[in-house]
Amino acid sequence: MDVLQNLEGIENIMIYVSDSLRWDFTPKKILDMGLSFKTIASSLYTASSFPSMVNGLYPPKHGVDTWEDKLSKGNRGLLEVSGYNISFRCETTWVSMGPEDSQVHRVFGKPSGKKLEDLKEPFIYLEDDKGGHCPYGFSFEEYDGDCDDFFKEYGKKDRKKLIEKYSESISESTKNFKKRLKTIEEMGIEDNTLVVFTSDHGELLGEYGGLAGHGKPPCPELVYVPTVFIHPTIDQNTIEDNIIRHVDLFPTLMNIIGKKLDRKVDGVDLSHETPKVGMSFKKGGFLKKEGQKLKKFVSYKTNSIWDHDGGHVFHDMNNLPRRIFDWYKISFQDTGYRYLTEQNKKHNWVKRISNYRKALDHLTKRHIEYGSSSLKKEVAREILNHYLDEAEKYEERDKLNRAIEQVNIDGV
Ligand SMILES: [Zn+2]
Repeated sequence: MDVLQNLEGIENIMIYVSDSLRWDFTPKKILDMGLSFKTIASSLYTASSFPSMVNGLYPPKHGVDTWEDKLSKGNRGLLEVSGYNISFRCETTWVSMGPEDSQVHRVFGKPSGKKLEDLKEPFIYLEDDKGGHCPYGFSFEEYDGDCDDFFKEYGKKDRKKLIEKYSESISESTKNFKKRLKTIEEMGIEDNTLVVFTSDHGELLGEYGGLAGHGKPPCPELVYVPTVFIHPTIDQNTIEDNIIRHVDLFPTLMNIIGKKLDRKVDGVDLSHETPKVGMSFKKGGFLKKEGQKLKKFVSYKTNSIWDHDGGHVFHDMNNLPRRIFDWYKISFQDTGYRYLTEQNKKHNWVKRISNYRKALDHLTKRHIEYGSSSLKKEVAREILNHYLDEAEKYEERDKLNRAIEQVNIDGV
């Protein structure tokens, strides 16, 4: 990408992550601000996606599958570039924990979370903005309840209302983003600052029988997110027709600030290479399930591969037990699928069963194809398996490196 190759004198990076923003809901005025790409999210929820954006590795290599996993020192990519002032700020997310102490901060070993205006140059500033995260149309402080309560409330209403509220959230996030751009202008650093607008994953808004939120299953609504590179020398209104991936951000941005990578990553430097396909992974739930035999038995695991027009999803788990487990959750438990159950209460049982089946198919089928990917199923499977084999060896090597590091520390 010549445009990125020609960027010179960039000293500061601001990455604004509008949480849960799907590609097809990205405001045109944001896409028009610079060079935009449809982007493959590495995972379907915050904990596993952020590490990919920051260190260029897909989840099977970075190893953050749950909120309890952490990135060890040396694996925190952009958040530990030497000679840079680093900030990771969560002003509108994790509001009960504070902007410097969110659950994502814990994954990254608690980096500082200074305000953009308080940062000294050169800096790398990353922000997780509430974006299109539930509850839609409200800040976390404003809504009296959690996402489950929100989906229960809006599940009783017409689906149009849910989409309206989601759009309100996106407008709010856009306003907040513009505030950050204004700050950069006021600091007088537009020329030496590259701004990246992106999202960690998309959001389901009642598709596939009534699925809402994010986390699973991989589908275009969750996997396709936007990335926009913004700088005064980058032409506006450019939407590229190839995809990029979360994992490309780290190598690309490192090259732009003139830093060499000290290891091979999964992503490529976009100023020199154009990726054709991207992968997305999800393994397990939000917390570890060790010791809970039954939960482990029905643990959710999926691998998927995407190009610009579609993708292949492979559910790599005990499909029948998982289907029964999800059926049980939908039918008897009041969590996780509240929007689906509330929406379907207004339908007769024939339509209701058909919608439940549709949702279960998307959540559990061994193979599902979305859109019109140019990849054939067997090739898609082969690429994924090849990557997973490589990741297994990588994990072993990483463990070995950490053990050696520990010996060195203990030795001192
Ligand atoms: Zn998120």
